[in-house]
Amino acid sequence: MTTVAASAYDTLHEHFRQIHLLEGTAAILSWDQETMMPAGGVAFRGEQLAQLAGLGHRRRTDPKLGELLAAAADSLEGDEQAPARVNLREWNRDRERAMKLPAELVEEFARVSSTAQHEWAEARRDSDFARFKPWLEKLLELNRRKAECLGWDRAGGEPWDALGDLYEPGLSAKDIESVFTPLASRLRALIAEIASAPKRPDDRFDRLELPEAQQEAFVRFVADAIGFDFSRGRLDRSTHPFCGGSHRNDVRLTTRFRSNLTLDALGSTMHECGHGIYEQGLSAEHLGTPMGEAASLSVHESQSRLWENQVGRSQPFWRWLTPKLDGFFGSAVAGLDAAAMYGAANRVEPGFIRVEADEATYNLHIMIRFDLERRMLRGDLAVDDLPAAWNEHYRNYLGLEVPDDRRGCLQDVHWSMGAMGYFPTYTLGTMMSAGLFEAAERAMPGLAEGLARGEFGPLREWLVANVHAHGRRHRFRELYQLVVGEAFSADPLLRYLEGKLRPLHGI
Ligand code: ZN
Repeated sequence: MTTVAASAYDTLHEHFRQIHLLEGTAAILSWDQETMMPAGGVAFRGEQLAQLAGLGHRRRTDPKLGELLAAAADSLEGDEQAPARVNLREWNRDRERAMKLPAELVEEFARVSSTAQHEWAEARRDSDFARFKPWLEKLLELNRRKAECLGWDRAGGEPWDALGDLYEPGLSAKDIESVFTPLASRLRALIAEIASAPKRPDDRFDRLELPEAQQEAFVRFVADAIGFDFSRGRLDRSTHPFCGGSHRNDVRLTTRFRSNLTLDALGSTMHECGHGIYEQGLSAEHLGTPMGEAASLSVHESQSRLWENQVGRSQPFWRWLTPKLDGFFGSAVAGLDAAAMYGAANRVEPGFIRVEADEATYNLHIMIRFDLERRMLRGDLAVDDLPAAWNEHYRNYLGLEVPDDRRGCLQDVHWSMGAMGYFPTYTLGTMMSAGLFEAAERAMPGLAEGLARGEFGPLREWLVANVHAHGRRHRFRELYQLVVGEAFSADPLLRYLEGKLRPLHGI
């Protein structure tokens, strides 16, 4: 690298490090808003966050960046996978995206979605779609404008592609449809088999009322055991569990408790721990650059789903954990053995609510949302007709009559935040988690027996080395191919679900 290029790269490095500091600061303020802030702080916190977002956007669109990026690119040596080349490629991508969006649109989007979220919360509470409708129409219009600015492949593509690319780079609606369609038909067949199966798993544990303090001690013990590092992170409470924080050494997780849903608290905690372990596992050396950032939302979700499902709903895991239940819950759990706990963790029951769905039905909830947002963006579905289209999908996919919009099209926060194109990352991540776990088992033949002894370190270290260490080096399908050793598909997930759920239901 020449001196000029080296100095251009160093200047860029410092510039983006400052953006990272600003955005990390905003992330801590957002975490605080959801967990600690008194209600009186709401209005001013909005201004504080807007101020930081404005500073970040200005830095991302700084006119001198174009020249610096070109100067650094001209003479950076090494192959395309070298950290400096990866950072440059991703800085370019981030800048191009920011430059395409006029500041006026960014601001209007932020303003409308903040009010829309408030209106949505009220509309959901009262199951009043008419109240949310004008806001959804505004957000749809803003998302269409955003898609126009970002652009998509005009020969064969569609507006959804421009928005989906914000959450999962490089995957079009058609790409996603081509993996979702075969997945949907086999999932529906599996759900039908289970519905008429001879056996139902024991769900006694899930009906126990257990004190929240005991549940909290229990989930903290599991979080620590699977390897969430509490010296570099926290676990607090919020209405909707999430993983936030500012960098790998300060990761903020939240979870929730309800007296009769201990498995929900455990699953939510393990899910967020999976996100947190990913953040904590990112490269220290590359902190503050793309090489030290998570690859994408789908890859993030593959980490959370892997700890929540492949580990947390597995036989070995319950062989390890069941004998410890007594220490947290005493006589309330007397008589429950590992087989009963494994069954309770794997109940299948079609329901209305996505976030409460089991592993077999979960992905159908996602496919319904993907289809509807895609049609709305294309102009094939009017907002007026959304509730009816939603309910028709639930009838066809899950055999359910949606009783009201609160349990129907008003249940998710995403569209009210303006996030269209986001939902598929949940299913893509779930599919990846199954592929990754198969690859981990191939690489470590004694893995399951180790998990049954509470040895989670080898799996965690394998994920750090094979996924976390790459940062944003690879796109989703490329990373999948590299780690799993085969092209991305629904096969591992289907093998996993059919292989587990059929025997549990006596099929
Ligand atoms: Zn998640």
